[in-house]
Amino acid sequence: MDAKTDFTFILYETPEEGIARIVLNRPKTANAQDTQFLYELNAAFDRAAHDEDIRVIILAANGKHFSSGHDLAEKHWHENMYDHDTVGTMCGFTCAGAEAQMSREEEIYLGFSERWRNIPKPTIAAVQGKCIAGGLMLAWPCDLIIASDDASFTDPTVSFGVGGVEYFTHFWEVGARKAKEMLFTSDSLNAEDALRLGMVNQVVPREELQEAAMVMARKIATKSRFALKLTKKAINACQDAQGRELAMDNAFHLHQLAHTHWLKLYDSLLDPSGLPEATQKALGLKVDEAK
Ligand code: ZN
Repeated sequence: MDAKTDFTFILYETPEEGIARIVLNRPKTANAQDTQFLYELNAAFDRAAHDEDIRVIILAANGKHFSSGHDLAEKHWHENMYDHDTVGTMCGFTCAGAEAQMSREEEIYLGFSERWRNIPKPTIAAVQGKCIAGGLMLAWPCDLIIASDDASFTDPTVSFGVGGVEYFTHFWEVGARKAKEMLFTSDSLNAEDALRLGMVNQVVPREELQEAAMVMARKIATKSRFALKLTKKAINACQDAQGRELAMDNAFHLHQLAHTHWLKLYDSLLDPSGLPEATQKALGLKVDEAK
């Protein structure tokens, strides 16, 4: 096995011919995603995408949970953007008003997830434990999802005063009615729900998850790379013909409106009354009940 360790939070492995395995490796924080984490993950996807010997990419995670989402405790997130070479065309990450947050989220949230979704090679997510909010934005862009029987999928952002994560593809993942339920209630979908809804391809026992992803990857790796690329493009175009990109763009801007609303009220991107007390404290937020 070829394991590259030049990332802090991500492992890059090539376990077998034709297969890259990218592993989220920040288990102490349940793979919470800060700016560095996401740039490393993007670089790992780029490495696999650009390597002509790689035909299939697996996205896996170390630890009990796949990902708890964005790291809400990250400090100096505006300035941290300048530690990295941006891959989109956004700028103004330290500008006043709504501009900084919108630029950053277009680059590292919507932008990255969309970028990974369009990698012209099959991608397989292997998801265990909790997959929350920003976690969905890593699993959903993958072409196939294999879940362990203990997996759960949650977008609790309405509880924080925002109407869904930045990569707003809930409608295409679970259908309109279930998308509304998961967002309105902040309830989790368990692995069996996700399988029934067609959001995941397989559910397997926890201890068989990584091997199940490898079995799927091996099967795909024997196929023509060009045919796989064309097939992926054709199916993704079906979603785009339904207006996916435009609908997501609309949702993204509504999401920015919500952030701006809470910034104006509380100097916080999210409604602090919906955040756990520890997170409120870490962010130095004071909840004013009158608002
Ligand atoms: Zn946001």
